[in-house]
Amino acid sequence: MDKPALYPWLQASWKNLLEQHKQGKLAHAYLLSGLPGLGKAGFARFVSSALLCLDLSEHGACGHCKTCHLLAADTLPDFYELLPEGKSQTIRIDQVRKLCAHLILTPQIASMKIAVIQVADSMNVASANSLLKTLEEPTADTLLILVTDFPNRLLPTIRSRCQQLHLNPPPHEEALQWLGAQQVDGAETLLSLTSGAPLAALRDSESGYLERRTAVFADFIGLIRGQANILAVSESWQKTYFPDCLYWLRSWVEDMIRLKMVDEPPLLENTDIVSDLKAGSKRLDLKALYARLSLVQTAIQQSSTTVNHQMLLDEVLYPWN
Ligand SMILES: [Zn+2]
Repeated sequence: MDKPALYPWLQASWKNLLEQHKQGKLAHAYLLSGLPGLGKAGFARFVSSALLCLDLSEHGACGHCKTCHLLAADTLPDFYELLPEGKSQTIRIDQVRKLCAHLILTPQIASMKIAVIQVADSMNVASANSLLKTLEEPTADTLLILVTDFPNRLLPTIRSRCQQLHLNPPPHEEALQWLGAQQVDGAETLLSLTSGAPLAALRDSESGYLERRTAVFADFIGLIRGQANILAVSESWQKTYFPDCLYWLRSWVEDMIRLKMVDEPPLLENTDIVSDLKAGSKRLDLKALYARLSLVQTAIQQSSTTVNHQMLLDEVLYPWN
């Protein structure tokens, strides 16, 4: 694997782990959680490469020793990484069994064996159960790192056998500064749309997320004012902006409800378009807004099924006529 970077907002968590390691107090299993877009997957790799390195420092792996070279070539026998495989995107029981069989062996080159299970919530019940024994009776010199956006989706028996390591987003100013250094435009808005997760904001910036959202919002304002043709909007959204348009619409209607209830709500997601949303919310009563929100929520649930997207959007947009 490539040498993973340590993002500034993860420094403190790394220092804690390093301290635990130096004192011989590392847990045998960590559950690494936090918002999407904080760099959890990379952090697990960074920690692994550092702890496996034969010349470890506070900056992480040296990049030059034997384990570093083998790890870079994906041939270090003391490191294992599981990822969801196949169409169903699950971590299968045979993958976990194979991992557990490896973990019984003593380390071959490094001073320990490390296994990272990415997207750990994609283990099905059978896979999770087959991991339990290894978690309950870990072999010596073994470290397991389970990574997930959704710790509550893991079996309680798995969660309770891991030490929780929750990563938090950086303070707002720090995130803005970091995004500024990456030359991201609209960082303030992107951050508020990603709950403060800098890598999610960066990814959205690179994919033209704000521009696409602006185009869809212009359509939406047109609908609210009765100046847009619903069928044309629906067709355009389906062709170009599905399914993002549904998530945006849900977020706008939620903010409209907040604005309808309180004059200056403390928690708005769409801080850049408040005045338009506020004007829009004045045209509808609360009951109508809730009814429309419910339609969008249903559509979001159905959007991953085989149901016709155009029909879904037609249904969602119809009441805005
Ligand atoms: Zn090294």
